[in-house]
Amino acid sequence: MSNPLTGSQALLAATRILTEAGVPDAARDARKLFAYASGVEAWRLSLTLPEPVPHDVQHRFDALIKRRANREPVSHLIGTREFYGRVFEVSPDVLDPRPETETLIETALRTNFSRVLDLGTGSGCIVVTLLAEMPQAVGVGGDLSAPALDVAARNAERHGVSDRVSFVQSDWMNAIPQPFDLIVSNPPYIAASEMDDLSPEVQKWEPRMALTDEADGLSAYRAIITHAVPALIPGGTLIVEIGPTQGAAVSRLMRDVDLRNVSVVPDLDGRDRVVQGQMVGFATSTRR
Ligand code: GLN
Repeated sequence: MSNPLTGSQALLAATRILTEAGVPDAARDARKLFAYASGVEAWRLSLTLPEPVPHDVQHRFDALIKRRANREPVSHLIGTREFYGRVFEVSPDVLDPRPETETLIETALRTNFSRVLDLGTGSGCIVVTLLAEMPQAVGVGGDLSAPALDVAARNAERHGVSDRVSFVQSDWMNAIPQPFDLIVSNPPYIAASEMDDLSPEVQKWEPRMALTDEADGLSAYRAIITHAVPALIPGGTLIVEIGPTQGAAVSRLMRDVDLRNVSVVPDLDGRDRVVQGQMVGFATSTRR
């Protein structure tokens, strides 16, 4: 057997393989995966880099690098992804929680909700985060995908909100008990024509049904407005994530059904990311 590499040498070799495979942030990913393979926290890695790499660690690391070179996301290799300061289980059955969705969380936390519905809950990251932040509230997560709901239930367990959330397999609202004072959704909003532009990580490893409506990217909003808006109490709020070009179209859909105080909220990169509107009613008219 050949002499073991040091940690630094192993990282260098792996970074080269990932770079050749077109992985955008090869060095960063190699470090994350090396930390994971060694069972060491990423920030402590530097301490171990001068040391020879144990055989079993090298073996695990090689396997991870091979999969990463096939553009499997780091989150899938390590099984988790951070969202709004919490760690969520992820798998190919759910859309990876993304930083831009934290804008939806911030917007929702500015409303005073007690019963929230998350439509197309996926990993559950939205409803679980909202309930963890709002200890008096209860919620429902709906999804068409049964395997996604299993992941969501484990995430609720992980963050101690299981007793306040139910997960329901549902085609839009058909199986969901109503009403709600807040409805949130990060629906599939990528147009079919834009799917080819996505990175291999997203195209090959994330659930297509969570990304695109296979049409113009707006059908999910039309469905939400038709099926979900009637489940809002007077004064209740609808908040949806959007793609950066969809602000005007989604605002119009909301105004067309007489939602009030419709506004578009940008994400941290300054791109339009969230649209919100309020059901007409007592709470709205006193606030205006
Ligand atoms: N923001 C995601 C992406 O660009 C899409 C999420 C969605 O369609 N809801 O990959």
